[in-house]
Amino acid sequence: MKALVLERKGELSLRDYNIEEQLGPHDVRIDLRTVGVCGSDVHYYEHGSIGQFVVREPMILGHEASGVITEVGSEVDNLQVGDRVCMEPGIPDPNSRPTRLGLYNLDPAVRFWATPPVHGILRPSVVHPAAFTFKLPETVSYAEGAMVEPLAVGMHAANKAKIKPGDVAVVIGAGPIGMVTALAALAGGCASVIMSDVAQPKLDLAAKLGPITPVNVAKQSLTEVVMDLTDNWGADIIFECSGNEKAAADVFAPLAPAGCVVYVGMPMNPISFDVVAAQVKEARIETIFRYAHVYPKALALMGSGQLNVKPLITDTFGFEDSIKAFDYAAHMPPTSVKVQIEVAKD
Ligand code: ZN
Repeated sequence: MKALVLERKGELSLRDYNIEEQLGPHDVRIDLRTVGVCGSDVHYYEHGSIGQFVVREPMILGHEASGVITEVGSEVDNLQVGDRVCMEPGIPDPNSRPTRLGLYNLDPAVRFWATPPVHGILRPSVVHPAAFTFKLPETVSYAEGAMVEPLAVGMHAANKAKIKPGDVAVVIGAGPIGMVTALAALAGGCASVIMSDVAQPKLDLAAKLGPITPVNVAKQSLTEVVMDLTDNWGADIIFECSGNEKAAADVFAPLAPAGCVVYVGMPMNPISFDVVAAQVKEARIETIFRYAHVYPKALALMGSGQLNVKPLITDTFGFEDSIKAFDYAAHMPPTSVKVQIEVAKD
């Protein structure tokens, strides 16, 4: 089958790649429709590794996907041929200790698409466990279905924050993950979100997504704006989605007493922060790594119309232009949020 293969750092090709996949009794076969380009895919393309994960052999990229079922295993009873679906890309060991504790995202044995040595799904079809395959609501398109993967990160962050109705949240960083975190926070009960970045076009787009106040931190102080808007109390929740080392260290200034900080973005280097600044507010600090079983609720929110990811899909390429899509995503203009590749159309 034809696939988008990362041959080595900096070299992509769209070529035939032979993958034999057996359909097990609990699996489904899916023809891919839409695949989103993630920052991690682009990072492997440009750098050849992320932390301990190094691309040593040619690897197919892509992990944010939707498609249509073409075959179901003998024991699958919740999905049928023709069902439109999206897929969770990480499959844990069902018997591991983290999985049995409900923490399967922390299972070191998890096999995650497009994380070496596991192939991704920028290819025509894939075999996948039915348990990690989710039916799209009627009103949700394939393009939106491919947004559920990044949205799941925002959903997981919102869950960790334990949002209470009427909370005010800050989201630092207006990239795709910042955007979906803001949407998840609003859907989870936040009255409003204050969003910071230095890219004005991204902030302008964020401001159209709901009750979101954009703050350009190249021109304004985030803490000053937050204190202005909250009667000097601070924000109940800070979602740090930028991974920027200075931003990640400075989260306690705009935080309300007894507020919660969720570290979503991953700084490239270790950071230090002022423990006393956290203590004097009795800050609760949470971290997340991917997500665990939030797809059903993400799809429920999209299906009911409570949460709309469509404005985030700014650029769509055909499968034949996959390499172009990656080169575009690697040097994305500030007006772009999510780049997607249409592997096939219905
Ligand atoms: Zn992703």
